[in-house]
Amino acid sequence: MIIAIDGPAASGKGTLARQLAAQYGYHYLDTGSIYRAVAFGILQAGKDPEDLATALDIAKNLDMSTIRDPDLRTDAVGNAASIVAKQPEVREAVLDYQRRFAKRSPGAVLDGRDIGTIVCPDADIKLFVTAEDEERARRRFEELKGRGHATTLEKVVADLIARDERDKTREISPLKPAEDAHLLDTTELSIEAAFGAACAIVERVLEADA
Ligand code: C5P
Repeated sequence: MIIAIDGPAASGKGTLARQLAAQYGYHYLDTGSIYRAVAFGILQAGKDPEDLATALDIAKNLDMSTIRDPDLRTDAVGNAASIVAKQPEVREAVLDYQRRFAKRSPGAVLDGRDIGTIVCPDADIKLFVTAEDEERARRRFEELKGRGHATTLEKVVADLIARDERDKTREISPLKPAEDAHLLDTTELSIEAAFGAACAIVERVLEADA
């Protein structure tokens, strides 16, 4: 069983993916963390995120146990990640790991930008999670504040919009819903309500398959 969840930054997809994985006893992979880990490595080395040779070297030798490092969660790393993620060679270097992860038994939930379209086009269930820009920025701002990062709401809004634009307009694996994805707008939904809506979609698909 593969559940693919895509959507823009701070749409709530990560929380939903984690909750669904816990609910159904599936493995969970936050694929954005992979690109963040590559970007973090580049920034640590004092290199430019556009530097393909360095990005590729880091991507090919990435230790996947580092992708949960809280230092990856800053907006600076997120922005650098979206620059790294434009490079087809980098995407290719981390594709196999994601596809192998998706096959884990008894099931896996992966979230990202291209899970339903490129990484797992045959996923059993695809969700595309959205929320309005202001609401996403508010959530990200609260998250960063909670982690003790100094930033402003204006900067968070500008960063989110710039990053989404880059993710939507890149040539390879752009952020977009798969044709067979279920759309879920979480703007007006609490975390619990969004989870309930996602579970209802999953249950419908599971019942139809039974
Ligand atoms: O989801 P998160 O905000 O952590 O992702 C960071 C960046 O990684 C995104 O802005 C996007 O450019 C890239 N990404 C991607 N494909 C994925 C997941 C993330 O290109 N499947």
